[in-house]
Amino acid sequence: MNIIFIGPPGAGKGTQAKVLQSEFGILPVSTGDILRQAVEMGTEMGKKAQAFMSAGELVPDEVVIGIIKDRIREEDAQNGFILDGFPRTVPQAEALAVILRENGLSIDHVVLFEADTEELTSRMIKRAEEQGRSDDTPETIKNRLGVYTEKTKPLIDFYRTQGVLMSVDGLGQIEEVSRRLIAALKP
Ligand code: AMP
Repeated sequence: MNIIFIGPPGAGKGTQAKVLQSEFGILPVSTGDILRQAVEMGTEMGKKAQAFMSAGELVPDEVVIGIIKDRIREEDAQNGFILDGFPRTVPQAEALAVILRENGLSIDHVVLFEADTEELTSRMIKRAEEQGRSDDTPETIKNRLGVYTEKTKPLIDFYRTQGVLMSVDGLGQIEEVSRRLIAALKP
């Protein structure tokens, strides 16, 4: 099973991807995590990405497309994957369609996490305090939500027209959201 998670930052996608990993044995792939690791290690890619990330802007499409192209070919992704945080723009979604076709793969479900912006803002500020993420200042949080609305929301229609989109209410306790998500995915 191959799944895409779409939803505003702070909607709990990363947490739910881990839940699906233990429920279905499929691999969470987070471009945000991969980029953060690259920044930490000081790789060329990390150096390129750092300024965009700390401003709450999107890293250029070609960088993240390259990440996904390599990652889904690896051994541990062969049983299926959850793309968490990719695609985030229509050109990324178009590139993903090509990559999947080239690898004989397809997407089974696109899950849209629906959540209220105010609730998300307070969740993200709390998470910033707990995890010390440098891209979670009130200013970048606002920017990231704006970027989501402008660049990522168009993906909802992109996938709706393909008939693979399902919505899950992203608010509430983690366990509640997991229950709703698993129920929606089970045949
Ligand atoms: P995330 O952990 O998914 O919220 O991602 C953290 C940051 O990494 C984002 O604010 C972007 O700067 C960058 N990023 C992650 N995924 C992508 C993507 N698919 N396209 C562009 N930038 C991304």
